[in-house]
Amino acid sequence: MNGQMMQQPLLISSLLVHAERHHGEREIVSRRVEGDIHRYTYKDLATRSRRLAKALAALGVKAPDRVATLAWNGYRHMELYYAVSGSGAVLHTVNPRLHPDQIVYIADHAEDQVLFFDLTFLPLIQAVANRTKTVKAFVAMTDRAHMPAADVAARIPHLLCYEELLEAQDDRYAWPEFDENTASSLCYTSGTTGNPKGVLYSHRSTVLHTYAAAMPDALNCSARDSILPVVPMFHVNAWSLPYVGCMTGAKLVYPGAGLDGKSLYELFESEGVTVSAGVPTVWQGLLAYVEANDLKFSTMKRTVIGGSACPPAMIHAFGEKFGVHVLHAWGMTEMSPLGTACTFKPKHLALSQEERYAVMAKQGRAIYGVDMKIVDPNGKELPWGSETSGDLYVRGPWIISRYFKEEGGDPLIKDEAGHGWFPTGDVAKIDADGYMQITDRSKDVIKSGGEWIGSIDLENIAMAHPAVAMAACIAAPHPKWDERPLLVVMKKPGAELTKEELLAFYEGKIAKWWTPDDVVFVDAIPLGATGKMQKNKLREALKDYKLPTA
Ligand code: ADP
Repeated sequence: MNGQMMQQPLLISSLLVHAERHHGEREIVSRRVEGDIHRYTYKDLATRSRRLAKALAALGVKAPDRVATLAWNGYRHMELYYAVSGSGAVLHTVNPRLHPDQIVYIADHAEDQVLFFDLTFLPLIQAVANRTKTVKAFVAMTDRAHMPAADVAARIPHLLCYEELLEAQDDRYAWPEFDENTASSLCYTSGTTGNPKGVLYSHRSTVLHTYAAAMPDALNCSARDSILPVVPMFHVNAWSLPYVGCMTGAKLVYPGAGLDGKSLYELFESEGVTVSAGVPTVWQGLLAYVEANDLKFSTMKRTVIGGSACPPAMIHAFGEKFGVHVLHAWGMTEMSPLGTACTFKPKHLALSQEERYAVMAKQGRAIYGVDMKIVDPNGKELPWGSETSGDLYVRGPWIISRYFKEEGGDPLIKDEAGHGWFPTGDVAKIDADGYMQITDRSKDVIKSGGEWIGSIDLENIAMAHPAVAMAACIAAPHPKWDERPLLVVMKKPGAELTKEELLAFYEGKIAKWWTPDDVVFVDAIPLGATGKMQKNKLREALKDYKLPTA
């Protein structure tokens, strides 16, 4: 017997329809690449998205064509989120920090038909425009007055102006209804090895993930919040915040290209931002700016930190100095991205502040919709509540089942009941309360005398030292132990620190045999396109490094 409730597909356009009707006056504020601050409302967003949907149709875009963006966080990018997916086409957000060769590769692989770009990326467009095979038009996301000069424009085939496309349309457009399993958007994983692979989200997976993301024990967003997503809209849909905005009616504040501490701080204060989200490296810049200028946050309550492990020292600094609660979260492109968030259970409320900080350093517990387990090298499930770590597997309705165009074959691993699990490539332990803690990426694990040493723990300790700006721990070859930890450190500007002082800092904090064998000081640690330390580059650069203990 079937239930007798209405059948209504979970479509991304329904989020926008809801926001227009129930939160029409709520603001969306954007720092534009043109230099000014732009503000409008959800009603304006909805009206312009309908005009954009008609403009896309006029350009010949139809389902399931891919439409690419190379753009910062801003209102025009958000219009594309809704107009492209809402009309049945697929939004392909491209990471502009990738190398032009990689951009050409993924635009060809995705068979992008139209590419929308922010003016900042004009040089990139010039580098790729005559190389992509399928793109029929390039649209500059600006008005006529800011369009590239004629000589530049002449070298880009079919260059169009965003505001002119919109001006040519009215907003009489009804969002089509279709199967909720229809593809909605496409993101490529950064692919530290091999070619990037595409992750194809559906309307259903996106709407379900949005519900889950907004929940109190996830990103905890409501109509009363003012949310500033620092995490880029070109990186896993800004962790779903452009969708959460419409679902909850929260004010959205988009920082555009201004990701430095000063620009972000100004927006936090002027727009009454209560919630933000980003990777640890961005917050380092913000904290440094705020501390150097002796400033305070007057409205910020919490910030979501994920993408790589949030150093406990950062959780501490936000909490103690600024009264901002850090919400540590974990996920990946293949998971839409949210998997776990670190929020307390009632028992934690009785803990001391220091003990609570220790809980907050974990990546957190699974949100409903995501199941997880850790397994040994034979795939056997490991118990929770021990110090043993294992490979972390996940499953759920917003987790990948296949890469786009079946690239790489079937990624899932079946359990005894026949359920497919996605191996995340992370190594983790899970405590008795279900709080997961990542100890490493499987490819970054250091294997010393047959035992694993978790590089993230070693990095976190180094980053708690006041003279350290950033630290990466990699495996260096060792004749007796196979591998030993080598710490690569970037000091804070003007700070003095010796290898001996730093190694002494580990005493009592960790099993003695985990202490790094050596320290290398560098001017900079390479960061990838999503702001993560590129340990593979460090390993490559230091592959002939001889440890003093070797
Ligand atoms: P890419 O690096 O390809 O952009 P993702 O953004 O999908 O990939 O990154 C996913 C990976 O980032 C995870 O598998 C994990 O290794 C790492 N990661 C994400 N959040 C955290 C976190 N809070 N702590 C530690 N590692 C994290």
